[in-house]
Amino acid sequence: MLNMKIRILGSGAWEGIPAPFCKCKVCELAKEYPNSKDHRTRPEILVEGDKGKFLIEISPDIRLQSAKFNLPAIRNFLISHWHFDHMYGLMDLHAWSELVLRRKICLHCSKDTSKWLNKNFNHISKKIIIHKPFESFSLYGIIITAIPVYHMYTKDKNLKEDELNSTFGYILEKNKKKVVFLPDYYKLPAKSLKLCTNADLLIVDGTFLFSESFPKKFFQKMILTDKDHLHGKDIFALIKLLKPKKTVFHSISHLTEKSHEKLQNKLPKSIIVSYDGIEFVF
Ligand SMILES: [Zn+2]
Ligand SMILES: [Zn+2]
Repeated sequence: MLNMKIRILGSGAWEGIPAPFCKCKVCELAKEYPNSKDHRTRPEILVEGDKGKFLIEISPDIRLQSAKFNLPAIRNFLISHWHFDHMYGLMDLHAWSELVLRRKICLHCSKDTSKWLNKNFNHISKKIIIHKPFESFSLYGIIITAIPVYHMYTKDKNLKEDELNSTFGYILEKNKKKVVFLPDYYKLPAKSLKLCTNADLLIVDGTFLFSESFPKKFFQKMILTDKDHLHGKDIFALIKLLKPKKTVFHSISHLTEKSHEKLQNKLPKSIIVSYDGIEFVF
């Protein structure tokens, strides 16, 4: 019996690779070899249990991912937060949910994300299911727990840990197998950190992976001031604390200007740089 199958359909960060108008080394590589591991769409993760499938995030590239991976009609989506690269594919699902599925799509999210959805996507037919921090619920036989994280520095830097209710990671559990998805974040509350330890698989933010060796170009220098994500060595320090059996990075950006192969060669076998289509079966 299948416990869980996890497939990362979109492994890129907010700009995707190739990024618009970019002529950096890795974007040029992705343009030359569109079927390679260097060609990255924005975040999307397919979760399959023996009773059904759901998606984590609604990538702005969901139309392409749906075709490339021959996705069935998906009704349930877990949303981590309201940033463009994690949710704005909802625009593309508008006609599909109304005219083809003929049912409202179900968006699982935090209270803060629900406010954004109601304000900016009011015209789209949908059912919003708000989950409280640390609340567990079940989808197709998989137990899911919403895990609050600190991600939007200017908005959440002064919030106490028990006031946090905006960006969610999710823990997926079935038959003692545990998969932890941590979206964009710069800090974990103590309770989230504790719950996320000892996972069989940790899927974690790699936007600023190897930021110490970013090329010293204008854009990279400017973006290194970002406080919404963990950077460089701090990413590995957190992984060490969480003690997962296996780690895979999502949201790989073009900022390193390094190919998938070069990034992967810098890491031990238990830490994986994802690519579009990589799969983990439990
Ligand atoms: Zn580039
Ligand atoms: Zn974000």
